[in-house]
Amino acid sequence: MEFLKTLGIEEYNYGSCTGREWKKTDTAGKLDIYSPGSGDKIATVYQASEEDYEQIVKKASEAFLLWRDVPAPKRGEIVRQIGDELRKYKDPLGRLVSYEMGKSLQEGWGEVQEMIDICDFAVGLSRQLYGLTMHSERPDHRMYEQWHPLGIVCTISAFNFPVAVWSWNAMLAAVCGDVNLWKPSSKVPLAAIAVQKIVARVIEANNLPEGVFSLIVGKGSTIGEQILNDKRIPLISLTGSTRVGKHANSVIAGRFGKAIMELGGNNAIILTENADLQLALPAIVFGAVGTAGQRCTSTRRLIIHESIFDKIKDSIIKAYGSLKIGNPLDIANHVGPLIDKGAVKDFCNALEEVKKSGGKILYGGEVLTGAGYESGCYVKPAICEVENHYPIVQEETFAPILYLIKYKGDVKDAIAIQNDVVQGLSSAIFSLNMRETEEFLSTRGSDCGIANVNIGTSGAEIGGAFGGEKETGGGRESGSDSWRAYMRRQTNTINYSDKIPLAQGIKFDL
Ligand code: NAD
Repeated sequence: MEFLKTLGIEEYNYGSCTGREWKKTDTAGKLDIYSPGSGDKIATVYQASEEDYEQIVKKASEAFLLWRDVPAPKRGEIVRQIGDELRKYKDPLGRLVSYEMGKSLQEGWGEVQEMIDICDFAVGLSRQLYGLTMHSERPDHRMYEQWHPLGIVCTISAFNFPVAVWSWNAMLAAVCGDVNLWKPSSKVPLAAIAVQKIVARVIEANNLPEGVFSLIVGKGSTIGEQILNDKRIPLISLTGSTRVGKHANSVIAGRFGKAIMELGGNNAIILTENADLQLALPAIVFGAVGTAGQRCTSTRRLIIHESIFDKIKDSIIKAYGSLKIGNPLDIANHVGPLIDKGAVKDFCNALEEVKKSGGKILYGGEVLTGAGYESGCYVKPAICEVENHYPIVQEETFAPILYLIKYKGDVKDAIAIQNDVVQGLSSAIFSLNMRETEEFLSTRGSDCGIANVNIGTSGAEIGGAFGGEKETGGGRESGSDSWRAYMRRQTNTINYSDKIPLAQGIKFDL
C-alpha cells in the first residue's frame, strides 16, 4: 500500500526510538499486526527490551535538562512545525489509522485533524502558561505563583485512538517544558511508529537533542510495569480500561507519582418528552455505532420517557436497517470492524448476559460472515431493551450495543438512572424545555465530566478539558487549563522590606 511507504512503514519495524535513533532489538518478542478490516497482515513490529527502556529513559532525562531551558514560546514553535508536518501527512496517516485500527477513513482523517488542532492550541498556550499574583499580608512583600515543567511525561494510549490521545498529552507537555515518552497500545503500534518518524524529522531539522519525544512499543506486563514503577517519570497519562487504570493508579500513587487517568465510560443520552427527535436521531446513531461502538464516549444507554419509547425504538431500528457495514477504507460504509476477534467474543457474551437478565435483543447482534467479512471482526450493531440495574448494563462493553431504558416521571428520574453507574465520562440530554436542560446541568444533574445539551455523547472538541469522574478516573487532558497537570506549581514570596516578619507574629530577640 502506497501510504505505508509514504509513512516509512516497512515489512519489519523496530518498536523503540530515543528520538531519532531506532533501537535494533529483535529478541524481545514481535507483534504481527493485521488489519481488522481486511484481515491482511500489515507489518511486523519488534518489541523493545528492558535495556532499550533504560536507554530511552536515560536519553529523555538528559534531554529534559536542555528542553526545560528553551523558552516556552520557542518550544511552541517546534510544536507548530510538528503541526505543519502532520498537515502534510494527514491523508496517509489517516489511512493508516483506519487500516490498522478499523475506524472509518473519515474518522481516521478526523483523528489526525485533532492532532493538528491540538498543535495549534498548544502553540498559543506556549505564550499563556499563566500563574496568579496574590496580595501578601505582610508589608513590602510580594507573592506569586509560577509553573515549572515536571520532567518525563509518559503517555500510555489505548487502541481506539492510536494517535490523537498521544498528541492531546504530548503537545501540551512539550510546550510546558516536559519531554515525552509514548507507549502506544500493542494492538496499533504502526501508527505510533509513523508519527514518531514525522516528529523525529522536526527534531532533527531544529538540532534538538534525542529524547524530547521518544517511543516504546512493549508488553504491558514488562515495559508497562517498568514505567508505572519508575520514579524518573513524574507523570503518567494513561488512557485505557478501568481495570488497567485501577492497577496503574495504585502503583503510581504508591510512589507519589502524578497520574492522569482517562478510563472507561458508560455514556447515556436522556430523551425527554420535549426532545427534538430530528436532532436526536442522528446523534444517537452516530454515538452508538461510530467507530463500531469503540469510543470511550460512545453512546451506550438511551434513557427514554415512556410516552415516546415505542416511537423512538421504531425510528432507531429503522435507521440501523440502513447502515452500511464493511471495509472502513471505503467511505461509503458507516460501520467498520471491531479491533479483533476477542472484542467480537465480548460483544456476543454481553448479548448473552442481556438475555440472561431478562432483556430483549430488538435488532442485530449477529457476527457477519461471507464476502468482505473474512477478518471475522464484523458484527451487526445491536439494540436491546433492558433495565439499568442489569449487571451487563452497568459495565462498559467496548462494542456497538445500544441499551434502551424506559423512565417514568420527570427529568429527575431520568438523571437518577443516568448517574446510577460507576463510570462518569460523557452524558447528554435532548430537550427543548429549559427547566429540564438546566436541571440536567445543575449541581443535582449529570455527574459526568462531559454533559451536553442537544448534542450527543460521542467525541469532544479539543478546546475543552476532556475526561470523566468516578471510575473514569478523574483525569483531564486536551483544552481549557488541563496544561496545569503537566507542570508543578510553586508559590513564591519575596520580601523587599528591611524587616523579617515571622509567621503568626512570633518574635525572636536575636
Ligand atoms: P487497555 O486498558 O487494555 O490498554 C490501555 C493501555 O494500557 C495500552 O497501551 C496497554 O498496553 C496498557 N497496559 C496494559 N497493561 C498495562 C500495565 N500493566 N502497565 C502499563 N500499561 C499497561 O485498553 P484498550 O483496550 O486499549 O482501550 C479501550 C479502553 O480505553 C476502553 O475502556 C475505553 O473506554 C478506554 N478509553 C478511555 C478514553 C478516555 O479518554 N476516557 C479514551 C479512549 C479509550
